[in-house]
Amino acid sequence: MSATANVTKEDFYEVLGVSREASDQELKTSYRRLAMQYHPDRNPNNPAAEERFKACSEAYQVLSDPEKRAAYDRYGHAAFQGGVPGAGNPFAGAGFQGDLGDIFGDLFGEMFNMGGGGRRASRVQRGRDLRFDMALEFEEAVFGVEREIEIRRLEACEECRGTGSAKGKAPATCTGCGGRGQVRFQQGFFSVAKTCARCSGTGTTIADPCAACRGEGLQAKKHTIAVKVPAGVEQETRIRYQGEGEAGRFGGPAGDLYVVLSVKAHKFFERDGDDLHCVLPISFPQAALGAELQLETLEGPATIRIPEGTQSGRAFKLRGKGVPHLNSRGKGDLIVEVRVATPAKLNKEQRELLRQLSETMTVENTPTSRGLLEKMKEIFS
Ligand SMILES: [Zn+2]
Ligand SMILES: [Zn+2]
Repeated sequence: MSATANVTKEDFYEVLGVSREASDQELKTSYRRLAMQYHPDRNPNNPAAEERFKACSEAYQVLSDPEKRAAYDRYGHAAFQGGVPGAGNPFAGAGFQGDLGDIFGDLFGEMFNMGGGGRRASRVQRGRDLRFDMALEFEEAVFGVEREIEIRRLEACEECRGTGSAKGKAPATCTGCGGRGQVRFQQGFFSVAKTCARCSGTGTTIADPCAACRGEGLQAKKHTIAVKVPAGVEQETRIRYQGEGEAGRFGGPAGDLYVVLSVKAHKFFERDGDDLHCVLPISFPQAALGAELQLETLEGPATIRIPEGTQSGRAFKLRGKGVPHLNSRGKGDLIVEVRVATPAKLNKEQRELLRQLSETMTVENTPTSRGLLEKMKEIFS
């Protein structure tokens, strides 16, 4: 042990979180709690927890021994290292690691024996969760929709009310384990307990099974549920219906039903969160001279004013024409990007007009950077 380590070594009482006057029982209780908390089995690959676990064990090893505790109270950590003032120190140089296992064995052996034997598994089980996939039209996701769905699920058997036993009969004590739920067998020097295979550890078996459910206590049934999809849902939004999944076994709680939504694509709107995006082609004269255009939004026609000299790629934002926010007020925006369409076919007259126009225009065909071009578009007017 180095000198530095000695200086910074934590007080044993502090390690265990007890006062200097703590009784043996208090020490034990506190150590047991901390050892459980920091046990390496419960904290795999956690060096910090392992350190705590070692520190607690060391502190408990000293404080649980009346003689060592008295020495520690008098000399502190120095009581257990070489070169302690006072030759009468009987513990100088004694290592701690030697009998850690013994202490640990004592404490935890005790714990494992508590409540040992006769612990039975419960027959009662929670029902499984169910998933129902529902495809929505684009508009249904935006505005919400109500729809009835039919699901097939396990429900408690009506004949036996979920008990699994024929009318008037009760489950019988398991003959495999005598109702204990566990069978013991000898392995070397040890007697080992194993879950009874015949009753799955429940201690009982269904001797006279219900004819309707063959003792399962459950029956598959069809069930209709009204699903209310709120406005603004997205791809993979899940709606949970608590207790609408499969019934629990033998009186256990029912599972939940999850309706998982998928949304079909729109002809031209794309969603980005609650904003809608689309591209609107315009002609070169419309871009150059300006224009007023009608656009069919999800909520009816809207007007977009294209100003004179609009560059291709410029985006126009129509506030509040997007998708309603799910679970809150307000809506996203509609963003329309205009693209100047170059005519692929011209008639003779158009070609002549363009030639005349071209002669009046001077275009600088010099390269420019992408960034400068983007600036010219003045995104979001
Ligand atoms: Zn039944
Ligand atoms: Zn059994």
